[in-house]
Amino acid sequence: MANNKVQSKLSREELSELYLVQYKSTREIAKMFDCNHTTIGDLLKRYGIPSRPVGGGRKAQIVQIEHNGQMVEAKQCTVCNEVKPLEDFNIGRKSSGGRQPKCKECRKRYYRNNYTHINDKSMMNYYKNHEDNKLKLKVYYSKHKDQIRLARKEKYYSNHQETLLLKRKGYLQNRETILERQRLKRAENIEYHREQDRKRYIKRKEQRSIYHQKYYEMNKATIKLNSKKRKTSLKSLPFTLTEQQWNQIQSDFNYSCALSEHHSDLNMEHFIPVSWGHGGTYVGNVYPVHWKINRSKSDTNPFVWIERNDVKESVDMDKWYRLIGYLAEQNHLSVNEFRDFVSWCDKNKRTVEEIDSKYSSIELWKQSPF
Ligand SMILES: [Zn+2]
Repeated sequence: MANNKVQSKLSREELSELYLVQYKSTREIAKMFDCNHTTIGDLLKRYGIPSRPVGGGRKAQIVQIEHNGQMVEAKQCTVCNEVKPLEDFNIGRKSSGGRQPKCKECRKRYYRNNYTHINDKSMMNYYKNHEDNKLKLKVYYSKHKDQIRLARKEKYYSNHQETLLLKRKGYLQNRETILERQRLKRAENIEYHREQDRKRYIKRKEQRSIYHQKYYEMNKATIKLNSKKRKTSLKSLPFTLTEQQWNQIQSDFNYSCALSEHHSDLNMEHFIPVSWGHGGTYVGNVYPVHWKINRSKSDTNPFVWIERNDVKESVDMDKWYRLIGYLAEQNHLSVNEFRDFVSWCDKNKRTVEEIDSKYSSIELWKQSPF
């Protein structure tokens, strides 16, 4: 019931002036007359003044102010009362200017001061309605499935190139961390991942062979030329390895891969790649490896290749050090000398025409001033 004492102090005209023109809230008016805000609400009803909806208080007026030499739209923050440009407020559809009533700073301060409280509350709400919300979402999704999928697709392809670029940039920036994380995750459940690999391998067998065929057709000329070059270099470089020696080398490595656990599908690998125009097929430059390792190393410098993360993963490092020692010894060099020799070959590559069969690479290296 409206308080008669208040009614005697506050006429209809005064109240409508305060409430409708000055846009004061019932609470603000109640404070002025030292009473409860419900009393003012009752009084409004009695005077027949239409009340505003709850929360539909005064909206801040948009004004023009100068900011960084430009005239921009601004409004007053309801907390710090400062007039700030609209961009200093977060987006808020319902509020004036399409921005929230509190400025960004005040909002941030509020969150910081009430962090645990807000967090607890939102978590509680989340779990209270968790099952309900899940069900609702499911129903909604199944109802609008096609629409949602189409919208997602459109959004994805609307800035596809940009997204790809961004992803790529992010990947390159954090490559090491990402790879390390993937490696750890894989190691956690290695059996499962191996099983998945096997399944994927079988599943994509046909696809892969089609791809390889296509690739071959497209790059026929280059592939043929490269293989010819390789064969010619093989012929021009020293070829002193006998069958007996090759058998001995294979037995030195227990008839398995020199760098991994594989026992089959082995290739003869040249430590100094044939395509460099150095090395050759002799004791001290060849050893058996699994074809995958052979392909992975290809014609890169072995000492550079071994530093790659994906290589370290597939190669047994103990075996790698043993192999280096083995080859160095066969070349009658220390490990450091052998390393120098290999990097000298890498820096002084020769074409097939430049190969001079009078001197071996090792002799040339010993003669070189560096
Ligand atoms: Zn503020």
